[in-house]
Amino acid sequence: PSLDDPPYLRGLNAPQREAVLTTDGPVLVLAGAGTGKTAALTARLAHLIATRRAWPSELLAVTFTNKAAREMRERVGRMIGDAVEGMPWLGTFHSVAARMLRRHAELVGLQSNFTILDTDDQLRLLKQLIQAAEIDEKRWTARALAGLIDRWKNRGWTPAEVDAGESEAFASGRGQELYAAYQARLKAVNACDFGDLLLHMLVILKTHCDVLADYQKRFRYILVDEYQDTNASQYLWLRLLAQERKNICCVGDDDQSIYSWRGAEVANILRFERDFPGAKTIRLEQNYRSTPHILAAASGVIANNGGRLGKTLWTDKDAGEKVKVIGVWDGPEEARRVGEEIESFQHKGGRIDNVAILVRAQHQTREFEDRFIAIGMPYRIVGGFRFYERAEIRDALAYLRVIAQPADDLAFERIVNVPKRGLGDKAVAKIHQLARAEGLPLTAAAARMLDTDELTSQARRSLGNLIGDIARWRGKLSELPHAELARLMLDESGYTAMLQAERSTEASGRLENLTELARAMEEYETLGAFLEHVSLVMDNEANADEAKVTIMTIHAAKGLEFDTVFLAGWEEGLFPSQRALDEGGTASLEEERRLAYVAITRARRQAVIFHAANRRIYGQWTSSIPSRFVNELPPEHTATETTMTGGESLWRAQWSEQGDPFAHLAAANATRAAQRGPGWQRAAVKPLDMSPQRLTEVKNSAASFAAKPRGDIALGQRVFHTKFGYGAVAEIEGNKLEIDFEQAGRKRVLDSFVTVA
Ligand code: ATP
Ligand code: MG
Repeated sequence: PSLDDPPYLRGLNAPQREAVLTTDGPVLVLAGAGTGKTAALTARLAHLIATRRAWPSELLAVTFTNKAAREMRERVGRMIGDAVEGMPWLGTFHSVAARMLRRHAELVGLQSNFTILDTDDQLRLLKQLIQAAEIDEKRWTARALAGLIDRWKNRGWTPAEVDAGESEAFASGRGQELYAAYQARLKAVNACDFGDLLLHMLVILKTHCDVLADYQKRFRYILVDEYQDTNASQYLWLRLLAQERKNICCVGDDDQSIYSWRGAEVANILRFERDFPGAKTIRLEQNYRSTPHILAAASGVIANNGGRLGKTLWTDKDAGEKVKVIGVWDGPEEARRVGEEIESFQHKGGRIDNVAILVRAQHQTREFEDRFIAIGMPYRIVGGFRFYERAEIRDALAYLRVIAQPADDLAFERIVNVPKRGLGDKAVAKIHQLARAEGLPLTAAAARMLDTDELTSQARRSLGNLIGDIARWRGKLSELPHAELARLMLDESGYTAMLQAERSTEASGRLENLTELARAMEEYETLGAFLEHVSLVMDNEANADEAKVTIMTIHAAKGLEFDTVFLAGWEEGLFPSQRALDEGGTASLEEERRLAYVAITRARRQAVIFHAANRRIYGQWTSSIPSRFVNELPPEHTATETTMTGGESLWRAQWSEQGDPFAHLAAANATRAAQRGPGWQRAAVKPLDMSPQRLTEVKNSAASFAAKPRGDIALGQRVFHTKFGYGAVAEIEGNKLEIDFEQAGRKRVLDSFVTVA
């Protein structure tokens, strides 16, 4: 490096510079996490523009997310200033392909203003086609067909290219026919789905030499980030575009390939060297992101995968802290511990926008959301809706609001025809009219409506039923626990049945969310208190500029980095996922392990891994054992801490009298272990110790636990509760406290919601 270097080269190491300066010919940068692949790719863009090798409009640069594209554009701007005038072809595969397709839509029978369908639209369309083909849609679902078609599109197959064997996968060989019908239908309504964006462009490039030649000439240089996650159709598309000039630079890491479920093929890395003979392969080995302990922990885990290309990684950073592994009793305790760790990080001067919580499954976020609301910790959920904003949750909440607040018109409007009960827009408009004329809430107006002859008899019957149901549910409010009432309402209103009838994985996810909702309600004394909690959660997003903790899935965290990363739920069946375990075989398990590698390597300074002994997933308690990935962490780089609270003892004491509530699980695990053979057995659930000594031990500790649930709270202790403010503890019963609040009077609350004042 010399002082004459342009700014974008300063600070880059030798192989990174090589990746930037080897402008012509195919280049493959293959390197581990945090080695500056994205940094080098960005500098390469700057270099190409600054040295006038290409105009910004002659560069095709593909990133994995729109956010990454935005960042790259900004960074190039900072490196070379005004020379960067936009970069129209910098974006995700989908955004770039969509832009191209709009220019040539007519070549595949579309108009340039075609619509891009979302999943719901897509499923509705497929369902119609399945029905029209007189295929049993219960056995052959629209969801399954959508998955198949997506797979074919990811491989770059038009309907004509689907062979008989593949077609067999749906309705005894009718897959191809339905795929063709679907494409025809899409064309008729001037629409395409996500997979089509690339597939159509691929077809155009293959069949229209002039268009292909034009783009081959235009794109002097092609740059691709996260190359390990490209699918076949993306690969073919790149190969066509690069064939003429061959100036293509791809950066990636085979150990971070985590999208095979969406058709990504790591083999594309190997193909590259074959398809572009003479390609220069550059390896980056110095990691600039993480401490040695973090790197060693991640390397230790990924070393258990077979068939890796293999890489060296080193760092000259100070050792830093070991990776912490914390075993907790259950999910709520995990959330509480994470909250505490973040607070202590804050007290040491850490900024919470440098903190992330990474989860394996979307449903894990709720526990953290609830806890963070309780302690007033600002957070944001990246990718995916926040729990209480999901459609099914909002529907269920609307039912609850109608019960709790008779004047809540918005809630009534939301549910009046969900599930469909023949109360369409016309009927609703009439109710509105009456409500306005008489100055009544909608529910009251609706009841009044029944006495008129304004509605069709069918609408009148439906409305009558609904009003009757609402009145009955309101009556039950004082009899039933509100979580029970919620379940009852969802069943009786037909909402549950509506989702069940869908029989898709998506719908079953929604049903699970609803079970999770009822579970969340159990933690609140009244329906009113729960609804208030929800409005607080919803309000959390209000301060957009405030520093916030990030909560997201590992998949969404690809390419990002944070000072401190909390990795939640490292338990068998959650991570690795149950699906990966059920599939058996090494492929899906190795993909889970790559996810673990991605997760750990997001951390700059500290990684904290959690596993809980018990987890309540969708309302079902599951006893769990630590993830095999925890066992794979090299002990010399980890610090382990297990904080079993008295909860375990109490629980054991209870079931010793009632029988083991988890016996069936232990049995299921044992069967599974037997089927899997020796490798798995190591990780199987240990039988619980039921010896008389152990039980006496357990009962004694349970007695002490019941008296002292949380070390820091005693009678008379002044505490703070986020909702009720300050108060003094008047009674302690297990984890429930009676508190004399200074403003709110005496209330019974859970100890997890108070802090010592
Ligand atoms: P991932 O595999 O996770 O996508 P990556 O290889 O793309 O990682 P980058 O995100 O580009 O890595 O870089 C990781 C961190 O190292 C960033 O904070 C970046 O600014 C920094 N970095 C990259 N190269 C250098 C360098 N030569 N000197 C100092 N810091 C660097
Ligand atoms: Mg990167």
